[in-house]
Parts: sequence; C-alpha cells; structure tokens
Amino acid sequence: MANTEGVLIHPAVDNGIRQGSPDFSGGVLSCHCTDKPVKIRVGAQTAHNHVCGCTKCWKPEGAIFSQVAVVSRDAVEVLENGDKLEIVDTQAPIQRYRCRDCGVHMYGRIENQDHPFYGLDFVHTELSGEQGWSAPEFAAFVSSVIESGVDPSRMDGIRGRLRELGLHPYDTLSPPLMDAIATHVAKQSASAPAAASQNASAAPQQETVTSSPPPQPAGQGESLFGRLLSRLFGGGQR
Ligand SMILES: [Zn+2]
Ligand SMILES: [Zn+2]
Repeated sequence: MANTEGVLIHPAVDNGIRQGSPDFSGGVLSCHCTDKPVKIRVGAQTAHNHVCGCTKCWKPEGAIFSQVAVVSRDAVEVLENGDKLEIVDTQAPIQRYRCRDCGVHMYGRIENQDHPFYGLDFVHTELSGEQGWSAPEFAAFVSSVIESGVDPSRMDGIRGRLRELGLHPYDTLSPPLMDAIATHVAKQSASAPAAASQNASAAPQQETVTSSPPPQPAGQGESLFGRLLSRLFGGGQR
C-alpha cells in the first residue's frame, strides 16, 4: 500500500467528497477578483464532475488537480463584468474563458460542431458559494500531473489517495466519456470508408489514389485513437 499521508489533491476533495443534491438547479460562479468580479450563471446541475490532472485546466493555488464538470452550453450565461473575459488559447479545441485580472477560468467552450463534446461547457463549480453541485466522480489525466512538475515517485501516493477518496484514477477520461468519444469516432469513420469506396469504384484516377492516406495496418488503432484524443483536447489533455 502506498503511503497517502499528507497527499493533497484539491481543496474541494481533500477533506472528503461532498455529495450533490438531486434537486439542485445551478448557481452563480465568481472569479477571484475582489473588485468587479466576473460572474456567470450556470442554470443547471452539472455532470461528469471530476478532478483533472491535465496541464490546461485552471487549478487553485497550490493544487495539483483541477476540479471540472460539464453542463449544457445553453445553461451558461455571463452576468457581470464579461468585458474582463479573454480566451486563453483561441486555437485550442476547448476555448477557455479566463478573467484577465485574476486568471481564473470561468468556462470552457467548444465551437467545433464535430467535436464529441460539442454542446457542453466546462466549469469549475468551486467558484460558486452554493452547495449541491454534482460531486466529483473520478480522476482524469492523472499521469499528466508529472508534466506539471510532480515527481514521478509521488504517483503511487497520489493514485492511492484518489482511490481512498473514491475517485478512480484514469490516465485519460472515465470509461463512459471514452465510450462517448469512441462512439462519435465510429459514426464518423462509418461514413468515411463508404465515401472512399465510392471513389475507388469510380473510373481510375491515379492522382486521387496516391494522394489518399495509406490503409492503416491493424494494431495501430490505439495510437490513432491517441492522436485523435490529442487533437480533441490538445496535447493529449484538456
Ligand atoms: Zn477576476
Ligand atoms: Zn483538465
């Protein structure tokens, strides 16, 4: 058994998981500015709340994990001081809107309609004073904390502590979310080969054939999928 004493994950879970309320219907998130804080309303209960070890999610000072959940983008509304919001990286698959003064991320939005998670915004419910938000359920991108500077020798303790808290550690996302991505990919690739075979059965067009990507041998699915994940979230992470 790994020694988990003194291992800190995130302030919202370090003293145990607080369960959500089934009838909770949302609240207001505020950035950390004392003067003119950015406020957004999240008008619904969140889903898939989890702690995340990726290098992209916003984390409170000193935490090695973020806590992040999703909610329908229709439920997210900027209430106050939206002029202070800026997009962290306009090229990233998830456009994270942060307060330019305090750096807190208020919401992350996907504009690509072909993205598996299009329609969902990413939010940090710890920015709300209300209680009843959906509880974190798992830990994502755990190995990525090493990229943030955590010594690899600490990983046993970190994974052990996550298990103690009931937050199963995954090095990508949870199985339901990975299944959702794979389902999306399967649907997309189901239409792609059909189009390709139509081209192939047409009159021989040497140029078209040579410019099309070579068929992938079996067994490369894993790395292809990894590359896709990286394209979806940027750098293999969120
Ligand atoms: Zn701020
Ligand atoms: Zn993340």
